[in-house]
Amino acid sequence: MQNDTITAIATPPGPGGIGIIRISGSDAFAIALPLLRSAAQRAPFTDIPPSHQLTYAHLVDPVTDETLDEVLVAFMSAPRTYTREDVVEIQGHGGPLVLQRILRAVLAQGARMANPGEFTLRAFLNGRLDLAQAEAVMDLISSQTEAGLRLAMQQLRGRLSAHVQQARHAILGVIARIEASIDFPEDDIPTPQSSELRPLIEVALQQVDELLAGAEQGRLYRQGLRTSIIGRPNVGKSSLLNALLRTERAIVTPIAGTTRDTVEEVANLRGIPLHLIDTAGITPSDDPVEQIGVQRSRAAAETSDLILLVFDGSESLTEQDYRVCDELQLMGFGSGESSSVVPGSQSSSYRQRPVVLVVNKADCVQRIELAELERLWPISSTGAAIPLIHTSTLTGAGLSELEATLSDLVLAGKILHSEDVLVTNVRHQDALRHASDHLRASMISLRQKVPLDFVSIDLRAAFDLLGEVTGETASENLLDRIFSEFCIGK
Ligand code: GDP
Repeated sequence: MQNDTITAIATPPGPGGIGIIRISGSDAFAIALPLLRSAAQRAPFTDIPPSHQLTYAHLVDPVTDETLDEVLVAFMSAPRTYTREDVVEIQGHGGPLVLQRILRAVLAQGARMANPGEFTLRAFLNGRLDLAQAEAVMDLISSQTEAGLRLAMQQLRGRLSAHVQQARHAILGVIARIEASIDFPEDDIPTPQSSELRPLIEVALQQVDELLAGAEQGRLYRQGLRTSIIGRPNVGKSSLLNALLRTERAIVTPIAGTTRDTVEEVANLRGIPLHLIDTAGITPSDDPVEQIGVQRSRAAAETSDLILLVFDGSESLTEQDYRVCDELQLMGFGSGESSSVVPGSQSSSYRQRPVVLVVNKADCVQRIELAELERLWPISSTGAAIPLIHTSTLTGAGLSELEATLSDLVLAGKILHSEDVLVTNVRHQDALRHASDHLRASMISLRQKVPLDFVSIDLRAAFDLLGEVTGETASENLLDRIFSEFCIGK
């Protein structure tokens, strides 16, 4: 299929200043050239214009010789092009009708309409990009935040691929040692001892798990940080939510499924979407209606990355305050223990769960027992003291400090480590997770003294799964699925 020449309108539909039609394939030049006339004499071009330069021309219908548009054309010789094939890009006026007419003329010359993502697919098949990089192209186009954009750029430059290749290389080393001893026993290659193999597998496993830790953080960038505002009734949670949204000049988006009990809004905190979930208190209640609210709150907290725990500074701590604290600590918020790594689990694995204490109503006489609060919440999961901020939603006091604390937590690496390779793509995360499972299984087999060829089955599986990230072992189905999600013309 790859020897035909494809074309598509590469700019978004609708009127625009300019519109670009892209042609790629071995006939790209032969297809474009007869459509062009030199602007001065309106004569056909005798030579292909210089590569990678813009040439001014009239684009005509070769049958009627009618001028369809004035254009700038770039002829780009392989291999220094997006697809590594000969590419022509025609820049015309951006009207949909104009572009359609040019496209029709190009198709009439023998080009085929490109499928979604087919230009990028060719870049992949011709070895210009690996699969993770090709997917980064799509992420780049669809990025909603600057942080997401930076990540996609990083992936496009191949940082993820390089790390995945490192892990693959480590696994291949182990497979080679095992298989050499199985395949060539007569060559006196000693059977490797599990004590030799284990550290090698551990290295690979560590590399994969580091990428997985980055996967969890990549999710935060993509989907935002789920922040719950929690506290007993009347401490000022709703007021705080409103105040935060207002002062951030937030892009407020109502989320489908919003209920009376939990209100979700999204604020944009320096490029990272921050979900604020206001909950109707979390302490158990006998009232059946309120119980539903309590369950929702718990579920919201359970899936949160960060908790704003709000107290009323104008009152003593109540029994309900203590109960909220107990509940959250049971869920693992603010606990000093680093959560255990549970392969394949979406929940608290790979994650620290910070809490920020907010003592609200700072404008009133303060009766809350601060020492007691600090005793309840001594040290955060990052080892630092848990932040405690005094706010007043009435006067606005402390709100900017609260915002600074939140953005610190997010950006200063307490939740997100910006230097890590962040894996944002769900497909990559799945492949990494399964690879990690197989590596663990191979360690267990080693420990149980299972014959080495069985150990190597799991190692092979891990090796292939990692290859799916970069595309070395991706099936045609997988490729079809990935590239069909692209837009036409990319
Ligand atoms: P929620 O039940 O926790 O969501 O609390 P609300 O936000 O509904 O606030 C409960 C009451 O406290 C309301 O009457 C608010 O006007 C009041 N309130 C909220 N924040 C403050 C504050 O900072 N200072 C004072 N004095 N009152 C506040």
